[in-house]
Parts: sequence; C-alpha cells; structure tokens
Amino acid sequence: MNPAGTATGGGTGAADPRDGGIPARYWEAAVGYLRDLPAGAEVLLVCHVNPDGDALGSMLGVGLGLRRLGIPVRATFPAPYTLTPPFDTLPGVDLLGDPAQAPAAPDLLLCFDAASEGRLGELADRLVTAGASVVLDHHASNPGFGTVPLVDPGAAATAVVAARLLERLGVPLDAQIAECLYVALSTDTGSFKFDLTTPAVHELAARLLGTGIRPAEIARRLFDARPFGAMKLYGDVLARATLEPEAARGAGLVWSYATTADLDRYAQGRHVLEGLIDAVRVAEEADVACVLKQVVPGQWNVSLRSKGAVDVARVAVDLGGGGHRLAAGCTVPGDLATAIGVIRAAL
Ligand code: 5GP
Ligand code: MN
Repeated sequence: MNPAGTATGGGTGAADPRDGGIPARYWEAAVGYLRDLPAGAEVLLVCHVNPDGDALGSMLGVGLGLRRLGIPVRATFPAPYTLTPPFDTLPGVDLLGDPAQAPAAPDLLLCFDAASEGRLGELADRLVTAGASVVLDHHASNPGFGTVPLVDPGAAATAVVAARLLERLGVPLDAQIAECLYVALSTDTGSFKFDLTTPAVHELAARLLGTGIRPAEIARRLFDARPFGAMKLYGDVLARATLEPEAARGAGLVWSYATTADLDRYAQGRHVLEGLIDAVRVAEEADVACVLKQVVPGQWNVSLRSKGAVDVARVAVDLGGGGHRLAAGCTVPGDLATAIGVIRAAL
C-alpha cells in the first residue's frame, strides 16, 4: 500500500521544493494516518540499530510531539537495547521501552533515520505487520520502503523531516521537543559544519533555540565531554594511525583502529568510540578517513569519512553497509589486516 498508487495523478501530488521533493500527497497521507487513529490505537516509533543523535533525537522529538496531541506512543530500537551517554538524558527517554516488548502488530509504525529495512534489525518485521508505516529519513541510498516514505536526501538530518511533520500536525515546539531536534540536527551536521548546513538548517536551529534551550550545554555534552580514560584511549588510537597517500586511487587514506582490549584497558564502553573518526579525519593528507572498531574478535564496525573526492557511501554499500557520500559505515569480518585490506581494495 503506497500513497503513490492511491493519490490522484498529477496536480495534488506536486512537491513543494522546500520539502526536498517529498510529494504533498505523502505528507497528507502521513498526517492523515496520525489524525485518523482509532481510539486505543497502538503507535510504535522505531529507529536504526546503534542509534545516534539524529535517530534518537528525531524519534523522541516526534514522540513528545505526538504525546502533546494526546496520541500515546511507544518508542524503541533494535538490540542491543542500551542507551548510553550523551543520549541517556534526552527528553522523552521515558517513551522508550525494550524492543522485546514492542507491539507485534502496531496500528501505525513511524520509522526514523533508517537507510534500509535491515537497519531495523529484529524490528524490521513491523514494516509488514503494522497497519501502515511512515518512514522519515534523509539517506540518498534509501530505496523508499514503507507505506509513506518521507525521505529527503537534501535534508541535513532526519530531524529536518521530523520538524516539518510536527509543523504539519500543528504541534508547537517546546523546549523538550526542541532539545531532541537540536541534538539530532547538531549531531548530523557535525555541529553545523557539514555541507548540508543550509540556511534552512540555521532557520530551524533558530526556531529551536527560540524555546530557550541551552546550546553551549548541549554542544559540550555532545562533542566536548568524555571520560579521562576515553581521552587516553583516543591518544593510543591516534598514535597508531596509518597514512597511506597512494590509497583510494591517490586521494589518500588515514586509518586506525580500537579493540575490545583497548576498551578493557581503560574500563570504557563502546559508545566512547563514536567520536574517534572525528579525531582521525583531521589528517589533511588523506581524503578518506577510516576507523575500525572491534565488535568481537573477527568483526569490525567501520566508520568512513571523505573530504569530497571519494563517495564513501558507495564503498560502504559494496561492503554491505550504507550511509552518505561523505560519511558512511559498514561491518567487516576478519582480522585487522584482512579487514583493512578489504576496505583498501573497495576504495
Ligand atoms: P558512523 O561512522 O557515524 O557510525 O556512521 C556514519 C553514517 O553511516 C551514518 O549516517 C549511518 O547512516 C551510516 N552507517 C553506519 N554504519 C552503517 C551500516 O552498518 N549500515 C548502513 N546501512 N549504514 C551505516
Ligand atoms: Mn541521520
């Protein structure tokens, strides 16, 4: 069931350019599903595995907005179901529950920041069992799954799409919703530094700040705070970084890695590794930066970044992952030499 098939052709389906090509009939369908929910309807919100600030912030921001409309919602994400700093203090975390307890066949499913169905892990089946599904996303590689795909590849974050949905639902921004969306927006724009940081992004940020949220506090929590042990671990990882100027057809590659032994040595959890790629990608001699994070022996979670010469999303997709042109990720098997060899070859 796709509104593309049910809407009257032409006229009413025209896309507003501010909506990044999302047809008006998709917005109407999404708003319609939320407006016309029967009493007692189950609404489930899900986002991608290992959720980042955009996944959680967009989901909880919309969740709080729906609650303001009197629509009870439940939110979750696929296993491993753990919420780690800095996201464990987001407003709306009380909406979250264990995925094992998520309704098997919700009346309506809302999906956030997932480039593909596979990113929903064990919750992907809800796309089939739900009465309808509204998919909010901004990955260019998104194939357009779900009943109503609200996918804008030109949006800097899924939060941009989420804010538009809340506006169409007539939900006024309050400080709690704004904090969720601001965390999402600043995460996915690298603190308003990346290419898609458009005037519209700053306009949205201005509206969010207008609710009284504290940008310095949020930014420090997101980008400038980590345990001392994690700081020392970053030192080790940077010290063993490798520069390969000939890699990526001469564009250059800088890479490093972190193992579970590193985490154990400094008594740190995996979540502290999220910012590692930002410390490695500063090497100006390399277009591509790569950090391999050991999940278990023989399995690496890979972060890829490009300064523009290489489309790392294509590389990641080739290796079974996904992402954006300048920021992508995948999981690669093998020992360290094998894993980086596979990535080098794909580049
Ligand atoms: P990060 O390096 O920050 O973990 O991920 C960068 C980007 O790549 C994210 O925007 C995310 O959408 C995407 N990504 C990371 N890992 C995967 C993966 O395993 N599969 C897919 N499809 N996308 C990924
Ligand atoms: Mn995102």
